[in-house]
Amino acid sequence: MSAFFHYLRRRTGILTLAVLATLAACGFNIFSDQDDVNLGRQLDAQIRSNPGEYPILRGRPDVKQYVEGIVRTVLASPEVKKKDIYPYTVEIINDDKTINAFCTPGGYIYVYTGLLKFLDNEASLAGVLGHEIAHAELRHATKRITAAYGVQIALAIALGENPTLLEQIASNLFVNLGFLKNSRDDEEEADNSSMLYLRSTPYYPGAIRYFFDKILEQKGSRGGALERLLSTHPLPRDRVENVENTMKKWNLPPPTEANLFSARYLKFKRNLP
Ligand SMILES: [Zn+2]
Repeated sequence: MSAFFHYLRRRTGILTLAVLATLAACGFNIFSDQDDVNLGRQLDAQIRSNPGEYPILRGRPDVKQYVEGIVRTVLASPEVKKKDIYPYTVEIINDDKTINAFCTPGGYIYVYTGLLKFLDNEASLAGVLGHEIAHAELRHATKRITAAYGVQIALAIALGENPTLLEQIASNLFVNLGFLKNSRDDEEEADNSSMLYLRSTPYYPGAIRYFFDKILEQKGSRGGALERLLSTHPLPRDRVENVENTMKKWNLPPPTEANLFSARYLKFKRNLP
């Protein structure tokens, strides 16, 4: 519960709510960082208790360790600001038919084996993981809840209802992870942050581009699996352009094996279950 809410409970009025509505429209977030972590923890528990929908890969700690290693490398970037506040964990979902990854508020990252098998180099995976980390860092999910329901939530709390209502309302919104669906603006912002994070790692910062290229290439033939991906991460062609423009702006030479790590990645891929 933030100090802001304690204030709201003492002093409520139409004016306060009008101000909140305006703030929400400007990207304000009524949730605290700790709220994001609590929400993430709840979602993580829901996901783990639903192996039908989210079959977590068991008996292959090497796969998880490899992906964790990349996450740690990205998190080491000084551009990732909340790594001491958010717990940042990663789990592999054993589902080859889903080419996707997602991240809850507070940094609980999930990667599908379908995505691992789809990519061709380690730098692309680092780019996708950086993108997921950015959704948590930039708090896209709780900002969206604030914009959509912030006034209702604030009103309920101001009227003296149970303070845990905030978390209850928020966790209900996440049923089936619906609220993890990101807007196009959020996607571009997450891409930009991912490139910024990767800039201070051994990885080529623009490698997420190979992921986009392959999606656009295979969109027709891999319909179902890519549909699910595109439902949580919209992919307009201008995301490709955005990556290209950023690489040009940073004046980076074309990538090489030394910053793509495709040989190492293909070896990892061959050993996947
Ligand atoms: Zn995204």
